[in-house]
Amino acid sequence: MVELRGVHKSFGALEVLRGIDLTVRRGEATVLLGPSGSGKSTLLRAINHLEKVDKGSVLVDGELMGYRRSGNRLHELSERHILRQRTHIGFVFQSFNLFPHITVLENVVEAPVSAQGRDRAAATAHARELLDRVGLADKTDEYPRRLSGGQQQRVAIARALALRPKLVLFDEPTSALDPELVGEVLDVMRDLAGTGTTMIVVTHEIGFAREAADTVVFLDAGRVVEQGPPAQVLDAPREERTRAFLGAVR
Ligand code: ATP
Ligand code: MG
Repeated sequence: MVELRGVHKSFGALEVLRGIDLTVRRGEATVLLGPSGSGKSTLLRAINHLEKVDKGSVLVDGELMGYRRSGNRLHELSERHILRQRTHIGFVFQSFNLFPHITVLENVVEAPVSAQGRDRAAATAHARELLDRVGLADKTDEYPRRLSGGQQQRVAIARALALRPKLVLFDEPTSALDPELVGEVLDVMRDLAGTGTTMIVVTHEIGFAREAADTVVFLDAGRVVEQGPPAQVLDAPREERTRAFLGAVR
């Protein structure tokens, strides 16, 4: 579903991604771990072409992100085409970014109608299903500010799913939450992973990685240091850097 090959990205003199190869198979959950500044967010953003890579390629569902090929030349796609590619990829951020002036239900209905031209009645029915799935069937008519952080993040997840994405990216979805609200969000994500949603999750929640991930990838200084099933990477890491990191976050 996702294929990164030789992905490089620099900001000025700072080389943030230094040749990333990564494969995520359909229906699998991948957890991305790594120290602050190792390039995790940049990597996620590169996947949906929010960051343009300097070298290498990103394929999502067989489609080259951000470019079309003609002969051996690559041409960047128009903004409209890039936006269209992005509507197949859900993104959940640390800050939930809900629209404050519309209800929870409207927050979930908005994108499928405006970005994908879906029928409003059908999108509304789907939004209700999704809100039920994240445990918020009773909050559909509330405004975001009246919800807890954990509830707002669950709305953000429902909103990401409303586009029927092929892939969902999560960038530290629980790190802005009070500790007692983390569990309810991780429960929703665990449910998604268990039902075959293809997802890539940046998180420091090692317990979640152990239970929900098919693959754990440890990134350091812009390189994949180690990857494999959680039991291997988390419990029997081969690399000293992985051991040191796990020792510090646990
Ligand atoms: P964290 O755990 O703190 O979120 P991260 O692994 O997500 O870290 P990135 O956000 O990918 O790290 O950033 C990697 C490096 O790239 C950092 O040194 C950061 O300051 C730098 N960086 C990221 N975005 C930009 C940008 N737009 N311009 C310049 N430097 C950037
Ligand atoms: Mg980050």
